[in-house]
Amino acid sequence: APGRGALVVERLSAGYGGLAVLHEVSLCVKPGELVALIGPNGAGKTTLLRALSGLLPCTGRIQLGQQALQGRSPRQIVQAGVIHCPEGRQLFPDLSVEDNLRLGAHLRRDREAVEADVELVCELFPVLKLRLRQRAASLSGGEQQMLAIARSLMGRPAVLLLDEPSFGIAPLIVGQLFDVLRELNVQGLTALVVEQNAQLALAASQRAYVLEEGRIALHGPSAELAHHEGVRAAYLGL
Ligand code: ATP
Repeated sequence: APGRGALVVERLSAGYGGLAVLHEVSLCVKPGELVALIGPNGAGKTTLLRALSGLLPCTGRIQLGQQALQGRSPRQIVQAGVIHCPEGRQLFPDLSVEDNLRLGAHLRRDREAVEADVELVCELFPVLKLRLRQRAASLSGGEQQMLAIARSLMGRPAVLLLDEPSFGIAPLIVGQLFDVLRELNVQGLTALVVEQNAQLALAASQRAYVLEEGRIALHGPSAELAHHEGVRAAYLGL
């Protein structure tokens, strides 16, 4: 949903038990932006998304427009409009594609609009429409990723937190997925996308942050980062 303001993260720190992973991370995602978060394995990208969705305790400030989100429950954070599409997709494998989609809207009360949105996401990902009655587990990896994204969209995100959409997917399908993401962004979707594939992520996004060892090492317009010597050497294999 538009008009809910920017997601602003200030000095967020988090970890697991005694292990500090994120050290005073600050970033923002403005309405209408597609922002990429890149960085090596283990830098803490997934940890950051889990902290933003209330799945992991953290310190610092998380703000969506005028609303403070730090310390809120995952449910309250979804209700505020921050919706996490997790790494590994985490579908309900034994439920149908359609039921997985509806679960993405389980906190909504506007039933008719939910029905219309099922149609909408099926137009976005036509393969899902063909498989509405199939078990989610029967889909290919790429189809499952489309379903996971579609399920998140069913929550009408003010900000979509998308973790590693290319994970385990054939390169051709990854390209198609990013085409859809770009199109959604043109239509107004705001998203923070974590991605190992820095080339794709920088090509699709307007701005990007580089997370290294739990700290933001660099940030700026994606087109500029794509030309940055350090980024080219470390993340683009150039
Ligand atoms: P990847 O792309 O490999 O997922 P990442 O940047 O998303 O990398 P995280 O998954 O956030 O990195 O992991 C950051 C650090 O936190 C790593 O050192 C990891 O081993 C550690 N870590 C992640 N999850 C847990 C957990 N549940 N318990 C303990 N340590 C964890």
